[in-house]
Amino acid sequence: MEYSIYKIIRNTNDRNILVINQYFDVENSPEIQEDKFDIVYLNISNMSNNEVGLLLEKTSPIFSTKCWMKPRFVQTSNTAQLGLLKILTDGVATTPFDELVTQRSEDIFSQMDRLQIKQIANVSTFVAFFIRLCKYSISRGDYTYTSTIIPGLTEGHSALYAAMLFNNEVGSRKEFLEFNQKLLELGYAEPQDFVERVHICPQCKSSHLIYAECCPKCESSNINEEPMLHHFRCANISPESTYIYDDKLRCPKCRQYLHHIGVDYDRPTDVHTCNECGHTFIHTKMKVRCANCGSAHRPSSLQPMDVMRYKYTPEGIHAIISNDALIKIGKDLWFGYSNFEAYLQQLRLFSHTSTINETLYTIRLNIRILDHINETERIHFMRRMHEVFYDYNFSFKNSYFFLSSKIATEESGELQQVILRNIENKLNALQNECPFAHVDEMASIVRAADENIEKYIRRMCEPIYQPDTSL
Ligand SMILES: [Zn+2]
Ligand SMILES: [Zn+2]
Ligand SMILES: [Zn+2]
Repeated sequence: MEYSIYKIIRNTNDRNILVINQYFDVENSPEIQEDKFDIVYLNISNMSNNEVGLLLEKTSPIFSTKCWMKPRFVQTSNTAQLGLLKILTDGVATTPFDELVTQRSEDIFSQMDRLQIKQIANVSTFVAFFIRLCKYSISRGDYTYTSTIIPGLTEGHSALYAAMLFNNEVGSRKEFLEFNQKLLELGYAEPQDFVERVHICPQCKSSHLIYAECCPKCESSNINEEPMLHHFRCANISPESTYIYDDKLRCPKCRQYLHHIGVDYDRPTDVHTCNECGHTFIHTKMKVRCANCGSAHRPSSLQPMDVMRYKYTPEGIHAIISNDALIKIGKDLWFGYSNFEAYLQQLRLFSHTSTINETLYTIRLNIRILDHINETERIHFMRRMHEVFYDYNFSFKNSYFFLSSKIATEESGELQQVILRNIENKLNALQNECPFAHVDEMASIVRAADENIEKYIRRMCEPIYQPDTSL
C-alpha cells in the first residue's frame, strides 16, 4: 500500500473506502466531504494508543457528522492494542478489500435502508447521547443490552458506553442507569434473561471488590498456611514448623524422629498462622475491600445485584430510530446538572414538548467566591451545590448558577414563592458550611406564556453575554 495520510479507494461493490494511515482530524478537514466515502478503514499499526483513541473519537459513527453510522474497520498487527475499544469498530481486517469489510458493510447499509434511522442534529443532552448509542446498536442488528458496565458483562449499548468510559469520552454512570430505567418504564425495552448475580460495595455501589482471606482475630491478610502434623505415638498435634529440627522432622513433645507418613504420623489438616498477631487457626475469615472507595466489608454485608439482559421492544426500536424516544425521555429526565450547552438544550427541548399549562421558572444566582479560597474548598463547594440542588435542572457559567424548574402556568405565582423559599433555605444552610461563598445577586426569570424560547434564554443570560445592540 502506497503511503499517504489518507486516500479514498473503491471496492467491488462500488463503495468508497476512506483509508486513514496517520492520525488527523477528519471531522474538521474541509477537503474530505461527507458524501465522498461510505466506509472508514483505519490503519492503526503505527499509531500510539493515544492517537488510536483520538482517531476513533474523530471518526465515530455515533458522534461525528461525516462518519455517521458508516461501517468502520481497523487494520492492526496487534489486536490487543485495541482492547475494549474493539467494540467501537465493525471488525479487524488485513486489507480494505477483505471479504469481511465488503460483506459486513453491505449488511449495515441494508439495515440502514430498511429502518431509515434518523440522525440527531445539534442536541447534546445526555439522553441524546444514549439514544445515539442505541441507534448505533440497532444499525448493527444488535437489539439487546445488559444492565451494567461491569467489564466482561457488558453487551449492546452498555458495551459501547463502557468502551467510551474507557476512552475518556464520557462521564457519569448515574445517567446511564437512569436512561436504562426510562427505557423499561416507557416499554421501550423488556427483560430477556438473567445474566449474572454480582455483588457491589454497599457504600459506593462499585463492583470492583478485592476478596482476601484473613486472620479471624486481627483481620490481617498477612497469614501463612502450613500442614498440621499428628504424631501417632504420643498424639501430639502441632504445625509442621514446630517439628523441624536439624532439617529433619522431630516431635516437639516426645522428641522422636518422624519417618514415614501414614505409618508413624499423618497430616490431618492445614493450619494458618497470622504473622501480625501470632494467632493460629484452621479456618480463615474472608474480608472484602472496595477498590473504588477503600471501605472494608464482610461478604455478607455486600449488596447483591442481578445483571439482566434486556431487549428493545418493537415500539422501542421505532421510538429510537424516529427520535420519539429522544423527546419522551428528554422530557422526563429533567433533573440534575448538565454542562451549560446541554442545559440550554434541555430548556429548548422542554419548550418543544411542553403543553400550554406548563412554563419555565429559572433562578439565576451570581455567586462570588472569596479569593483566598484554595482549590479543595472550591471543589467541595461545587460538589455540595450539585448535591443540594439535584432536584433542579441546573448548570454553571462563569460565576453564574442557573436553576430551572417546570411550573404550572395557572398557579405560577404561588409556586414561584415555594421554589424561591426552598432555594433560599438550601443556600442558607450551604452558606454556614461554606462561608467563603457569597450570593451577590438572585434573579427570578419566568417564561411568559407566548415567549419565544431563544428570547427567554437571552433574558436569562443577559449578564453573561454582551448585549447585542442590533436587536
Ligand atoms: Zn492476626
Ligand atoms: Zn511425639
Ligand atoms: Zn466502595
